[in-house]
Amino acid sequence: MNLSPKRKQQVLFLLVIIILLSVILIILATQMFSEPSSDHSTSVNTTTVSGDSQDVSSSPASDSSEDSKVDSSSSTAAVSDALSENISRADADTASPKSADAALSNDSDPIPPQSDQTQDETENEAKDNTGDSSQEPVSYPEMIISSDPSLYRYDDLVSDLEILKAQYADVVDVVSLTKTADGRDVYDIIIGDLQASKQILIHGGIHAREYMTSQLVMKQAVTFLEHLASDTDSYQDLSYRELLKDTALHIIPMVNPDGISISQLGLDSITTDEVRSALADIASMDERSLEDFSYLSAWKSNALGVDLNRCFDARWEEYVGTGHPSSDKYKGTMIGDAKEAKALIDLTNTYPLVRTISYHTAGPLIYSRFEQFNQTEETTAITDAWAKELSAATGYGIDENYNGVDAAGYKDWALSKKNIPSVTIEIGSGSSPVDPAQFGQVWEENQNVLELTLYGVTQSP
Ligand SMILES: [Zn+2]
Repeated sequence: MNLSPKRKQQVLFLLVIIILLSVILIILATQMFSEPSSDHSTSVNTTTVSGDSQDVSSSPASDSSEDSKVDSSSSTAAVSDALSENISRADADTASPKSADAALSNDSDPIPPQSDQTQDETENEAKDNTGDSSQEPVSYPEMIISSDPSLYRYDDLVSDLEILKAQYADVVDVVSLTKTADGRDVYDIIIGDLQASKQILIHGGIHAREYMTSQLVMKQAVTFLEHLASDTDSYQDLSYRELLKDTALHIIPMVNPDGISISQLGLDSITTDEVRSALADIASMDERSLEDFSYLSAWKSNALGVDLNRCFDARWEEYVGTGHPSSDKYKGTMIGDAKEAKALIDLTNTYPLVRTISYHTAGPLIYSRFEQFNQTEETTAITDAWAKELSAATGYGIDENYNGVDAAGYKDWALSKKNIPSVTIEIGSGSSPVDPAQFGQVWEENQNVLELTLYGVTQSP
């Protein structure tokens, strides 16, 4: 084809226009299709992050496997945003003691009231999922402990701990210290920083028929968390956050869940043939009948017939007891010869405990001494001063006849071998199980024991 120069010029001009238009169209198309891919880039990066953080895999963005196949050609900025979004979600999802520490250790960043924080989280999730921020705040079911039940059972504790873990996820951790012979868990509620240099142990329910102590200790834990979350409550001149400064609480409401189940509910509560068979042997040695509920309701030991408060290294060798597995007063074949007692020994040897409180029934009375074996003057002085404060707060007397008490208890070991200021508080009056009608008064008397103890620890070097 032979074109005139002018014609050639026109054709070239047209070609340039067409190329320019094509380039503009391609750019527009690229921008249009790249916008919705920001969600996909989130998922791409979720895959990357999940290699480093096990909790990220539970974030909503990682649900679709299809998303992870999307190519990662989106912009660096979008990738970076998505990554930080996922990391912050992962942090929010991780209810670890570490994050609790972070929340507690920063004075300038008070813990927001739990209900507000929950609302914020709910709203954020609502925005992520639907763009609608008018969702109702999460309302947690009322815990069974709050209704002051006449019987607080192991199943009630488990149910309440589920709520507690969800409601106070940023300041609390709940761990199982051991599994009992009949398959129950011994739970430790940890409030505060597990790396803290000062830690405090409070335990209840080590003696089966003394189960009112489990209810008391659990109510102390829940009430403390309510105060901590309020952000305005204080004890004396310290906020609840300040009470926990460089301190952690280990709260074990039910050291002996098998024994408590036997005392409260009888044989029907036992789930394994092995334990049923063991109980039959124990009853035979005790010359009692498992059909006799008065025998079972007065049970003190664990389900294998070991008295969990006669297992510790405090003149254990000298303690005689029954000499055979029994509902009461059998020390086992060696120190720590029960998983539940061993769990307390391990915890005490692991963390820097500066106070321990063992709750029992019935008194009311405070025991603060154990013959002073190996006990330093400093431990004795701190324990005596603290016991006087506890006595003033509860109205309970301090036992002076400490030589007449059975040996090999937890408090005895903590005081005499570990040099940890330690007390036993006996609540209620009359025979055990204590009449549930006494619980209201017991609560009134003991409601400030955690705070008083923490306050004392903050004042000591
Ligand atoms: Zn007891």
